[in-house]
Amino acid sequence: MNILVINCGSSSLKYQLIDSETENVLAKGLCERIGINDSFIKQTVPGKDAVVINCELKDHNDAIAQVISALTDKEIGVIADLSGISAVGHRVVHGGEKFHKSVIIDENVMMAIDQCVPLAPLHNPPNIIGIKACQAAMQGVPQVAVFDTAFHQTMPKESYMYAIPYEYYEKYGIRKYGFHGTSHKFVAERCAQILGKPIEETKIITCHIGNGGSISAVKNGKCIDTSMGFTPLDGIVMGTRSGILDPAVVLFLMENEGLNEKEMNNVLNKKSGLAGVSGVSSDMRDVYAAAQEGNEKAQLALDIFAHRVKAYIGEYFAEMNGADAIVFTAGIGENDMAARLASVSGLEALGIVIDPEKNNRRGGEFEISADNSKVKVYVISTNEELAIARETAALV
Ligand code: ADP
Repeated sequence: MNILVINCGSSSLKYQLIDSETENVLAKGLCERIGINDSFIKQTVPGKDAVVINCELKDHNDAIAQVISALTDKEIGVIADLSGISAVGHRVVHGGEKFHKSVIIDENVMMAIDQCVPLAPLHNPPNIIGIKACQAAMQGVPQVAVFDTAFHQTMPKESYMYAIPYEYYEKYGIRKYGFHGTSHKFVAERCAQILGKPIEETKIITCHIGNGGSISAVKNGKCIDTSMGFTPLDGIVMGTRSGILDPAVVLFLMENEGLNEKEMNNVLNKKSGLAGVSGVSSDMRDVYAAAQEGNEKAQLALDIFAHRVKAYIGEYFAEMNGADAIVFTAGIGENDMAARLASVSGLEALGIVIDPEKNNRRGGEFEISADNSKVKVYVISTNEELAIARETAALV
């Protein structure tokens, strides 16, 4: 059956139509500048040139209508009509404590997603708008919600609670939720297959490192800890996010720099990370190039980055009492040999030995650990859209 996968942002909408039996992508596309002028759709059908359609996208209903018309178009489309879509899988960022797995969307689910809006005020509202637009345009077609947070709901309380007054957990739900769960689950499952073991008998550390990034400890197929927290700001160094930080720094800066809450939020989310330390760019490739040219701050950004990844690997190694495998995925994890090498070198005491030759590759799926490494280290490409399509197909 064909599954339409939707990832809806405030002014953009990404989609893929995936045949769940062959797992082939039939078409994929992107609606940009929804609700802004000069909006357009770019659709790609494998083996053909991408097509750009300039069209007015006043809102997400317009966008969904145009996506359907592009998918069913006689010339550039891939299906004859709406009967070519069996179900729709939606990426939903925050499922709070209510969702520990993907669900078919009904009225109660919509209400529960809505109740999670205070936890993800920038992400859940566009996700809800996307679901409503699809419900209106494709009546009777099952809609499924796949949550970024769901995979992490198995964390034990000592992992997800913060040591602040307990009442804030009860009053606001302040705790660690974790994100990128769909990706962590996808690569952990694939890693268990490669190891040739049931996932229930594995200990895997999954490193999803892109512009945003998080690391998870997956024990016996269940997430027991993850580096992102109440929000995606926590954890490793990211493109523009600080990651882990002494909370007193925030108070100090607000007082001494006269920053209000919004400005402080902007510093931590948009001006920190690789960009903030290097002063060069949030993009790893630029930071790396600057470091190569002798830029010391760029080199420092790379050093802090690798130091943090290594620290989380050590932490999760301890939490799981060992690991069978470490997986690198996402933009940096899949492509950046230098960042990988710096993050996992010098860990021989943990039985982790990297083969620099094997590491000298990018993209796809391959092992980078040396033959004598007790812990296997792999690069495994993530595919969140395929994961959403699989979850959706399984539910419907
Ligand atoms: P997002 O979190 O936006 O999905 P991605 O997973 O696409 O991010 O990762 C983007 C990051 O991956 C950028 O920092 C980019 O520099 C890095 N990256 C992509 N390709 C390479 C490469 N060949 N070498 C080093 N870094 C790369």
